[in-house]
Amino acid sequence: MSVIGVLALQGDFQEHKEVLESLGVEAREVRLPQDLEGLDGMIIPGGESTTIGRLMVEYGLREPLRHMAGEGFPIWGTCAGMILMAKDIGHDQLLLGCMDLVVERNAFGRQVDSFETELEVPQLEAVSPKEKGKKIHAVFIRAPLITSVGKGVEVLARLPEKNAPRHAEDHNIVAARQGNLLATAFHPELTGDHRFHHYFLDIVHQAKR
Ligand code: GLN
Repeated sequence: MSVIGVLALQGDFQEHKEVLESLGVEAREVRLPQDLEGLDGMIIPGGESTTIGRLMVEYGLREPLRHMAGEGFPIWGTCAGMILMAKDIGHDQLLLGCMDLVVERNAFGRQVDSFETELEVPQLEAVSPKEKGKKIHAVFIRAPLITSVGKGVEVLARLPEKNAPRHAEDHNIVAARQGNLLATAFHPELTGDHRFHHYFLDIVHQAKR
């Protein structure tokens, strides 16, 4: 059985933990470096990226996690977690910086800083063939946006035009994968649709082989 760590310094780690447990996976709250021992993968939840980043450094988790990411350890960042995964967010902030992404924090301005929409994510067919073509309901809360990706990054989802703050579609990316690293701008742990958790668990299982 896989053991998935959920970074539990701040933010909505409890929700991720509950989803993982409902899928029959052991979920472990991670606060200290020794909590990383024996993990098969790790989720960085939504919350406040400045706080999580600062605490990650303070608790001595940033360096081991960066190292593990470089060795192929699967990590999934949602919302604030996605900000922490990015190499470039346009200003100085403590990050993990392990994915080749340019991310804009709070990209949706004040009026619409929270919204919900439906996303097309063709790659989810692999985890749930029966739901082929079924869009995923996505909750965005003061969400960030991926405005550009590096060469080794696979784009998994873009915003539909009605929600997109940028003109060119390649600047409106909300889910991406780079090797065993995954980033989503929204919160799959807040809906009943767990295909993204399954998708991440597939990455974890493949990394274990
Ligand atoms: N706005 C938050 C940040 O910049 C992210 C919001 C979230 O995780 N829901 O860190």
